[in-house]
Amino acid sequence: MKQAGFDESPCPGYPSAMSDKFDVIVIGGGHAGTEAAAAAARSGARSALVTQAFSTVGAMSCNPAIGGLGKGHLVREIDALDGIMAVAADLGGIQFRVLNRKKGPAVRGPRAQADRKLYRKAVQNLLKSQANLEVVEGEAADIELQAGKVQAVILGDGRRLTAGAVVITTGTFLRGVIHIGEVTIPAGRVGEAPSVGLAKTLESLGLRMGRLKTGTPPRLDGKTIDFAGLEAQDGDEPPEPFSTLHEAVHTVQVRCHITRTTQCTHALIAANLHVAPMYSGQITSHGPRYCPSIEDKVVRFGERNGHQIFLEPEGLDDDTIYPNGISTSLPEHVQREMVASIPGLEKARIVRPGYAIEYDYVDPRELKPTLEVKAVGGLFLAGQINGTTGYEEAAAQGLIAGMNAARIAGGGEGLTIGRGDGYVGVLIDDLTTRGVSEPYRMFTSRAEYRLSLRADNADQRLTPFGIKAGLVGERRASAFAGRMDLLERARALTKGLSVTPNEAEAHGIHLNHDGVRRTAFELLARPDVGLGDLARVWPELRSVDRFASDQIETEAKYAVYLERQDADIESLRRDDAVEISTELDYRAIAGLSNELRDKLAAVRPGTLGQAGRVEGMTPAAMALLLAETRKRSGRRAA
Ligand code: FAD
Repeated sequence: MKQAGFDESPCPGYPSAMSDKFDVIVIGGGHAGTEAAAAAARSGARSALVTQAFSTVGAMSCNPAIGGLGKGHLVREIDALDGIMAVAADLGGIQFRVLNRKKGPAVRGPRAQADRKLYRKAVQNLLKSQANLEVVEGEAADIELQAGKVQAVILGDGRRLTAGAVVITTGTFLRGVIHIGEVTIPAGRVGEAPSVGLAKTLESLGLRMGRLKTGTPPRLDGKTIDFAGLEAQDGDEPPEPFSTLHEAVHTVQVRCHITRTTQCTHALIAANLHVAPMYSGQITSHGPRYCPSIEDKVVRFGERNGHQIFLEPEGLDDDTIYPNGISTSLPEHVQREMVASIPGLEKARIVRPGYAIEYDYVDPRELKPTLEVKAVGGLFLAGQINGTTGYEEAAAQGLIAGMNAARIAGGGEGLTIGRGDGYVGVLIDDLTTRGVSEPYRMFTSRAEYRLSLRADNADQRLTPFGIKAGLVGERRASAFAGRMDLLERARALTKGLSVTPNEAEAHGIHLNHDGVRRTAFELLARPDVGLGDLARVWPELRSVDRFASDQIETEAKYAVYLERQDADIESLRRDDAVEISTELDYRAIAGLSNELRDKLAAVRPGTLGQAGRVEGMTPAAMALLLAETRKRSGRRAA
């Protein structure tokens, strides 16, 4: 679907056709930027991705893995909207595991360990083959505005690129400073210069900004690790792909190993806290509480016997090991001693020290739920710049920002995904309504409607939205139609077959002898009955495809709860559909407490639903907002 107002441009791909007029310009080639650029281009907008070096596009700054608890849901949702992360993870994945497999389907988290180079190459190839997209190598130094609207991006070398909308996705680069012990280096990532010009531009727009911090562990030479006494961890067999476009994973699969810190490690860290930037006062900003540095773990949970470390290979033809769990910014010589105090790592060589990085972020309450900056028409922000951490959180925002940038540039309206429809909706609503006080990471516990928002049904929830929005290509649309056809047939089959308790008994299925006929679907609600058991009664069920059979079993087992949750989601949608004015003068509304006035002024909610989620909101305050909005629209109509 083409948006009105876009040029019917040919497919230039990369290398750049050296144009300087675009519908959408995306700044930054990280996880948010690549999804944003691809989504804008898929939406039909003539798009450019401006990034310092195409060779770093798709780079994983920290752990070589995609997905996990909560994050895996986001990856599946990106896939459902025809994004690139899931496809690239399948092409670069070297160990796939579904976390929490023994728990209910709602909290299972698909995760893939990735070969850094293969992942990066996959992302770059996907972008190269994307129609409507050019890559422009260069540093964005400034944004030009006219009458409060984005006009152009000015590059460091003076080039001026015009656009109807701009998406900034600069990650940790805005005034980034790396810390290793007492050494500080201005950088956006190790070996890459920080972005200062753009930070000043955002500041000059009057946006509320702050500083956050994140960190990464030292990288180790796998040839110097003694794996012999360590616990090995294999992936799932067969590996389950992320993308519904893939039947199987074809990359070679590897094993990881697990070790632990020791009392020696903890004593050494405790003795060196005075040179740890986090504790010496050198770093004052907040880091991710749920992804703490090893210094933090020792201070907060020092009494523990040891902290687990996953030794994760960084690639198939690369000996580098990523020791997941010991992110640190201690001085290099302390890092060496620390590593040597860990079983299996006694002789391990550090190939690159760990470090912490501090950077500017923009308070995400400055954004509309479409991720457009409230104060600047056509300017969108996505990714770590909005106070999140993680590739998946960045990518999910990028996709939504890219889609909406294309729509706004084409003269259309932005779209949003609700909290009841996807984790991407939960993420963006949390950011834009509540803001952040530490780097925001996704968890399944952040979603109210976990039973509906499963990783396994992301396509059912979001692909129809993606098709309507013009984001989904023909290949995915037809694969989706095929899957839904299988599912519908399986639903009809299981709901159309029924047995009496006596008939079931004859096949070894014991039911209450109440004379009530039960459908195959109803029988599946029982925890001890699977489709395989029912195939003894109805051999035709053997023909049900594996995907459809898993779905039907989950639907049947959760049916009662899902019905209740659907009613709650409906009520949420109703509140989210009631628009309230974003221009209310909260000071003039009698009955609101001063605290609520301040909180509402910081968020400026656009719907009754969003207002209800502002911290401290009460039903009485909601009624006041609604009455004030009605009064204003009545005045305007008159
Ligand atoms: P990035 O992936 O950082 O991409 C930013 C892009 O913008 C880069 O391509 C850069 O070249 C480009 N760019 C910047 N400025 C300009 C400019 N002016 N002009 C043009 N291009 C520009 N996440 C976790 O989940 N767990 C962790 O433990 C963790 N640790 C981390 C440790 C470190 C040291 C770092 C750097 C990151 C860590 N992360 C971690 C975060 C994770 O890497 C990010 O959340 C994710 O990469 C953010 O994606 P992004 O697209 O927002 O930004």
